[in-house]
Amino acid sequence: MGSRADAVRALAAARFDVLVIGGGITGAGVARDAALRGLRTALVERDDFGSGTSSRSSRLIHGGVRYLEHRHFHLVFEASRERRTLLRIAPHLVRPLRFTWPVYQGARVPGWKLGAGLLLYDALALWRNVARHRRLTAAAVLGREPGLEPRGLTGGAEYFDAATDDARLTLANALAAAEADAVVVNHAEVCAIGRDDRGRATGARVRDAITGAEVTATARVIVNATGPWSDAVRRLADPTAPPGVQGSKGVHIAVPAARVGNHGAVTLLSAVDGRVMFVLPAGLHTIIGTTESETAASPADVRASAADVAYLLESVNAAFPGARLARADVRAAWAGVRPLAASGQASDAARASREHEIVREPSGVVTVTGGKLTTYRAMAAEVVDTVEAALGAEPVATRTHVVPLPGASRVAAVDALASGDPALGEPLIAGLPYRRADLVYGVRCEMAETLSDLLMRRTRIAFETPDAGRSVAQPVADVVGRLLGWDAAARRAAVEAYARDAERVFGIDGT
Ligand SMILES: Cc1cc2nc3c(=O)[nH]c(=O)nc-3n(C[C@H](O)[C@H](O)[C@H](O)COP(=O)(O)OP(=O)(O)OC[C@H]3O[C@@H](n4cnc5c(N)ncnc54)[C@H](O)[C@@H]3O)c2cc1C
Repeated sequence: MGSRADAVRALAAARFDVLVIGGGITGAGVARDAALRGLRTALVERDDFGSGTSSRSSRLIHGGVRYLEHRHFHLVFEASRERRTLLRIAPHLVRPLRFTWPVYQGARVPGWKLGAGLLLYDALALWRNVARHRRLTAAAVLGREPGLEPRGLTGGAEYFDAATDDARLTLANALAAAEADAVVVNHAEVCAIGRDDRGRATGARVRDAITGAEVTATARVIVNATGPWSDAVRRLADPTAPPGVQGSKGVHIAVPAARVGNHGAVTLLSAVDGRVMFVLPAGLHTIIGTTESETAASPADVRASAADVAYLLESVNAAFPGARLARADVRAAWAGVRPLAASGQASDAARASREHEIVREPSGVVTVTGGKLTTYRAMAAEVVDTVEAALGAEPVATRTHVVPLPGASRVAAVDALASGDPALGEPLIAGLPYRRADLVYGVRCEMAETLSDLLMRRTRIAFETPDAGRSVAQPVADVVGRLLGWDAAARRAAVEAYARDAERVFGIDGT
């Protein structure tokens, strides 16, 4: 991989077939697909890859068991196929996950309905899910999850989906795009879109947040893959563009796994309002989520509220009565904005369609909204088909379903760094699996440029510590400052910037 400075220079020097704006899972997936098809491709991301919604999901690659209730069978079919594909092309990032779903007397989804639904779930996966579902007796449910409320438990089921690290899946796509010769730059914000005298978009003004420099990137087609920001970017090309995205806020909390006592992943109907919720194992922690509420909050500033946290705690305490979790037990709370296509058929966020929408704007910009982490690859292939049509190019078939995603050798490379220098083998925080070598690798091989890149996404320290990793910001700045050429003042500034960023993402509103 060339240097970042080279990439910024290349942005200004070349005329691209396609410039992708937004390095979430959607934009990174589009850039990878376009580059693999041989298109001259650039990808620019205003913050870091995955820093928006794509690092704040439930981290599931799932068929979407919830969509069965709304009879979105085609979505389940597509998502199940994509789950199979991702398990195949990225086994280092996507792993099977077994869920237990307990059923209680009088539940909104009774046992027979759950059984029928899960049968359909397996059928829509063409019977090729990781394994088929099984109905469970109440005793078998408690055998698996002894911490669950036993009163009123009538039985349940086990079924399978898959888990991922959303930020790393996004990064893998960005790195894959770069490996396939795309010019890929993070911390590079599109602040203006240029148009010719016929009103057609011709390129974008890009501001490099690391150096402060501005360059103009020219491209035959621009893809707006900015998720919840997509209306703002559309309006850079056409200030009168109508809204196309509807924001839906979702919150998760992380609590000590030992307090909840769950042995694996559990799907619940919240005792508060009957919504489907997940209790998910994450190392020393259990992640609980999610909420779902329409929001007009700026996607950059969206955070959990005290009410969101209280709702999640009440729901999990009802399901796991021994947990008795209080606000002080919450290690971290965060929120993301689902970029739902505003044309979804239903009026409320919980039922709006997860389907994506690809629009060719009058300016020629191709805007993509909606979708989900699980289906990003299929959605990206469709976007690149649209780009090829706009270019008048001979169609080239996508290869993203057969080419493995990079990153399989990362753990061995980090181990090698750690064994070459004992200081790099030291853990950053006792009990968490991150070492100094992870930081060095992040800077050298994974385009990490800031402390937030390292503490929130190359590692997940910020999601796993009560102070969002602030206590290690200085030592981390000292390790990576040497690699990034930071003097003492730059390191101090980096630590201060991290404290602000941690508050922006992990602060809790209304406390
Ligand atoms: C709470 C929650 C739970 C979810 N759980 C799951 C799940 O378990 N499984 C699943 O499949 N899906 C899940 N989803 C959905 C999934 O996370 C999203 O659909 C997906 O991450 C959206 O990705 P995106 O790339 O479209 O948007 P984003 O990830 O938000 O990416 C957009 C990017 O554009 C960048 N950008 C904005 N403006 C500019 C600009 N001017 N210049 C350059 N870059 C710019 C932003 O910085 C951002 O990084 C969940 C979503 C939420 C909110």
